[in-house]
Amino acid sequence: MGLLQEKLSKYRLPQKYQAEGVYPYFREIDSHQDTEVLMDGKKVLMFGSNSYMGLTYDQRIINAAIEATKKYGTGCAGSRFLNGTLDIHVQLEKELAEYVGKDDALVYSTGFSVNEGVVSCLTDRNDYIICDDRDHASIVDGRRLSFSTQLKFKHNDMEALEKELKRCNPDAVKLIVVDGVFSMEGDLANLPEIVRLKEKYNASIMVDEAHGLGVFGHQGKGVCDYFGLTDEVDVIMGTFSKSLASIGGFVAADHDTINWLRHNSRTYIFSASLTPASTAAAIEALHIIKEDEQRRKNLWDITNYALDRFRNAGFEIGNTSSPIIPLYVRDVDKTFAVTKLAFDEGIFINPVIPPACAPQDTLVRVALMATHTKEQIDYAVEHLVKCFKQLDILK
Ligand code: PMP
Repeated sequence: MGLLQEKLSKYRLPQKYQAEGVYPYFREIDSHQDTEVLMDGKKVLMFGSNSYMGLTYDQRIINAAIEATKKYGTGCAGSRFLNGTLDIHVQLEKELAEYVGKDDALVYSTGFSVNEGVVSCLTDRNDYIICDDRDHASIVDGRRLSFSTQLKFKHNDMEALEKELKRCNPDAVKLIVVDGVFSMEGDLANLPEIVRLKEKYNASIMVDEAHGLGVFGHQGKGVCDYFGLTDEVDVIMGTFSKSLASIGGFVAADHDTINWLRHNSRTYIFSASLTPASTAAAIEALHIIKEDEQRRKNLWDITNYALDRFRNAGFEIGNTSSPIIPLYVRDVDKTFAVTKLAFDEGIFINPVIPPACAPQDTLVRVALMATHTKEQIDYAVEHLVKCFKQLDILK
């Protein structure tokens, strides 16, 4: 056995949980995806999807993807920079820029590669990146790839952010990067206060709208729009893998920022462009999420109903104010055990353990879609109470 294999053979945590029968990952879905899916032929209620607007199996979007595949083919075989730019990529960029209220936008192949390629590229040696300590892994990786000084503040703690800003050279570029909606906790960044601090310390702000798009703001434009702070936020990114029922991501900003990224962002330049099917699906989904207010209203009706039901049933749900409802467990083994018990009751929820959260903050994450019904929420609450009580998480 080589040294590499010898070292890696010591990693046996997955096997431990598999042996205990509670391993919760890579569960296979063998049907179309909506609030109910089939897994191994069995019906399961899906509370683990980020398809907030419930559009993943929308016939209009499916047709758009099929038509684009027929017209352009299955892939682009090259980067946007060289041979991989289609007219529909440019159309999507124009529509996204207008939608989120910025001059221009760039479309990348995943949301992860947006953060990785944008956060790493905007600041340089003498600059600073300042992140919330609950920011998404893709922001963390982008920050790690940057040559600038990297600072962190405690989740949504504005005094801690100000302390970091005070440490910076006042003449250097300071980029504050936050999730608009935090992906595991479901709470919102305190953008009004972040904007106040940005102005006081002459900093810049980038907001990740992965979980805000479609959900918050006028026409689902996101959290920046919801707070009326689009102009004050310098850079907005989003993904197509949640409300937009596809895969891919974008960054939107002023002309000069986008011009810089277009010619320097490595995950944009050195990676093949978004497939025609994914691009056309994102365009169609964007039209729907802009126009379908009823769908957004359903999402918020079901979200408010579920927030009340979970809270009243005694679950600890933290500061969420979004369709992401964390049910805190605060113990890794019990988090896996309760995920398995719920699955046996026909409920799919996601376990969240380190590094996706702090060790003392493990939770199961319930995510809602516009297509969920109150009956489905009632079923979930009732059966999750039973599972949580069985493990003494709920008294
Ligand atoms: N940002 C946040 C906040 C996310 O939650 C995610 C995905 N979970 C991403 C970025 C990456 O997006 P994608 O799935 O499109 O790569």
